[in-house]
Amino acid sequence: MSETEHRDVIIIGGGPAGSTAARYAAEKGIDVLVIDGRDPIGSPLQCGELVPSNDEMRRLCPDVPDIDDLFKTPQKAISKLSKEMHIVPPSGKPLKFAFEGLILNRVIHDEELVKLARKAGADFLLDSYVQRIEENTVILRDGTRYSAKVIVGAGGHNDPLRRDYWDESSTKIPVKFVLMEGDFGNAVELHFGSMAPGGYAWMFPKSNCANIGLGIQRNFSKGRNLNSYTEDFLSNYDGEIKFTGAGSLPMSGTIKKFVKGNYLLVGDAAGMVLPSNGAGITIAMIGGRIAGQVIAEHLHNGTSLHDYEVIWKRQMGKVMRNSKRSFKIGSLFFRLPDKILNLLFNRFTKVIIWRAVTCRRMFWLL
Ligand SMILES: Cc1cc2nc3c(=O)[nH]c(=O)nc-3n(C[C@H](O)[C@H](O)[C@H](O)COP(=O)(O)OP(=O)(O)OC[C@H]3O[C@@H](n4cnc5c(N)ncnc54)[C@H](O)[C@@H]3O)c2cc1C
Repeated sequence: MSETEHRDVIIIGGGPAGSTAARYAAEKGIDVLVIDGRDPIGSPLQCGELVPSNDEMRRLCPDVPDIDDLFKTPQKAISKLSKEMHIVPPSGKPLKFAFEGLILNRVIHDEELVKLARKAGADFLLDSYVQRIEENTVILRDGTRYSAKVIVGAGGHNDPLRRDYWDESSTKIPVKFVLMEGDFGNAVELHFGSMAPGGYAWMFPKSNCANIGLGIQRNFSKGRNLNSYTEDFLSNYDGEIKFTGAGSLPMSGTIKKFVKGNYLLVGDAAGMVLPSNGAGITIAMIGGRIAGQVIAEHLHNGTSLHDYEVIWKRQMGKVMRNSKRSFKIGSLFFRLPDKILNLLFNRFTKVIIWRAVTCRRMFWLL
């Protein structure tokens, strides 16, 4: 058996959640090792690549402090700045909203998060797949062993710590997308209706192309598969496809507990995706910062790791609750025939729809 290397903290996965947790723990002098199966991290692309601007994040998540310290998106990671969102019912007639979004070069974005963590002092071990975790020890596929005082599961929707030590399940929706060459204007589009049953479709314009994709809930899809829905949706757009990708999005919101003993979950592994709009990158980073800071406090001063759950609820509890509720109500509406949905998307319901997408109470009381 190979010798075990000892660290303060091991983070499984160096995506937005893991790299951000590593950055904030390392900034406080903690010895952190991030282990990721990919090299480089973030590649191949699995994303729609839209994030709200920092100003928009301040409006969407008003209880999250120091937004500019958390999101330092460099210019080279931004493909396009959009100022408008179109919410499109099956009729194709959009409701238009002012919304400031960044359409990213996600691969560069994630590489920059790794750089920030490295600059703070975190170490990365790439191309190294974590097979299992036994007590304080993380065991790689090749048998190498690392032990740590705290182990963080930031491995996304298939995280091995979540898989082996948590029994709560999450609804996941399968997602497929392409990068299509051409000029697609400046507005980001979200489409709802029978073209994406139980989920939604998107078109996010980039500088010389668009990221176009779709996610469905299988139990809503009446036997048709994701490929068939994607082909139909893509036929609305003209251009050569230069990349095709797929993935899975957790859509039931956060799980009940993020902490078990000295194990923590963060990002998609903890269900940190807002179900009403699919935002996961920024939310994973919010969770990552809290986890990193709480771990540092715990190792320096012995404070409880459960502070992570308390602080998360303070910063994101309300937004997540509203988003889950909107998604549930939306799922009921989106079972309705397209003709009725078209009638429901009108100038009188516009404000309610926008409140749902932006994770506020839909009906002020509900
Ligand atoms: C197709 C698609 C489109 C999306 N579009 C958007 C969007 O437009 N905007 C948005 O905000 N969000 C979007 N999301 C969601 C967003 O991508 C995720 O919420 C976000 O990446 C979560 O970050 P994370 O760090 O938790 O996980 P991930 O980014 O998934 O990172 C997990 C990392 O862990 C590593 N890993 C996993 N298992 C192991 C293991 N056993 N051993 C070693 N390493 C491991 C992986 O290699 C990976 O690097 C989309 C998701 C998909 C699938």
